[in-house]
Amino acid sequence: MIEYENLGKLNQPFFEEYKIRFEETLLSGWYVLGKGVEAFEKDYAQFIGSKHCIGLANGLDALSLALRCFDFPGGSEVIVPSNTYIATILSIVQNGLTPVLVEPDIHTYNIDPVKIEEKITAKTRAIMVVHLYGKCCEIDTILSIAKKHDLRVIEDCAQSHGAKFKGKISGSFGEFGAHSFYPTKNLGALGDAGAATTDDDLLADKLRTLRNYGSRVKYNNEYIGYNSRLDEMQAVFLHAKLASLDKITDHKRSLAKIYFDNLKEDFIKPVQHHDYFDVYHIFNIRHPKRDKLREFLLQHNIKTEIHYPIAPNKQKAMFGILEGAYPISEEIHATTLSLPVSFYHTSNDIFRVIEVANKF
Ligand SMILES: *Cc1c(COP(=O)(O)O)cnc(C)c1O
Repeated sequence: MIEYENLGKLNQPFFEEYKIRFEETLLSGWYVLGKGVEAFEKDYAQFIGSKHCIGLANGLDALSLALRCFDFPGGSEVIVPSNTYIATILSIVQNGLTPVLVEPDIHTYNIDPVKIEEKITAKTRAIMVVHLYGKCCEIDTILSIAKKHDLRVIEDCAQSHGAKFKGKISGSFGEFGAHSFYPTKNLGALGDAGAATTDDDLLADKLRTLRNYGSRVKYNNEYIGYNSRLDEMQAVFLHAKLASLDKITDHKRSLAKIYFDNLKEDFIKPVQHHDYFDVYHIFNIRHPKRDKLREFLLQHNIKTEIHYPIAPNKQKAMFGILEGAYPISEEIHATTLSLPVSFYHTSNDIFRVIEVANKF
């Protein structure tokens, strides 16, 4: 059986380091906002090339608290791709704001910059871009649209740790980069974890305060805050793994290359372009008979996933909130299939997937 993902195997190379860090943290007796969080924040900020990193409880909070920092008037509109993971849209709705969906480009699966301006109104305040599947969106065009219309840009980097556009890393472009370290992400913790990165001193200070009950000085509350602190134990594990993130990325890219070189042309593969350094959080292909293909692979002991089976505008929770038709997004949801591309998969695993898939 070739599994789609196995988190135990994925983390095996880090077990010894984790044990050392676990024991150190256990013995330190300091489990919330300690030296481990500080050390991770410092190195992750350096990795992104941003001035600040604020460790948070998860990726959804990173998106949500980043938006919260701007205090946009209720009902303000935030532009977001129609095919993103639901969390991006939830962060907008949970802030009392209105998500405005923009269709993706059918080739990159990222928000289509050409379609953004027609959705901008007097109420638009921000664009939430998503670097989906580990590929940066066309961020230079988006930044110039944002500048022209005076909009804030928040990047959802949950799937794009280390992905670059024209040599510059995701999470360093907008006012905020929002990062998730959910266990399956390229940089994954052993539980929930997240962070926000920014160059802005005031925004960083506000977010740092918001994550800890809106309190800068103990028992003094400045804002209606949250409890969204990055857990100390997760921070020390993440810090250990961060040192190997480039190795993880290289491995995933080498597996992707095997797919590119050997999968038959019947499958629509991700696009490659020299401006983009992709990190393949997900390696997806598209095929009109996706469900049959998935079944065929499973019969041959190969597990796959679908990211995602239901478009956000078709979700029950979004009835009355997301209206209109999104045919490109729906086409992607109906035809996409994610193939195994984990750090623990070997090139032989990938050749086996290809051998079977090419018989379909
Ligand atoms: C995983 C993910 C999130 C949410 O991260 P959590 O840490 O699970 O809250 C947000 N956006 C995208 C695109 C994701 O893939």
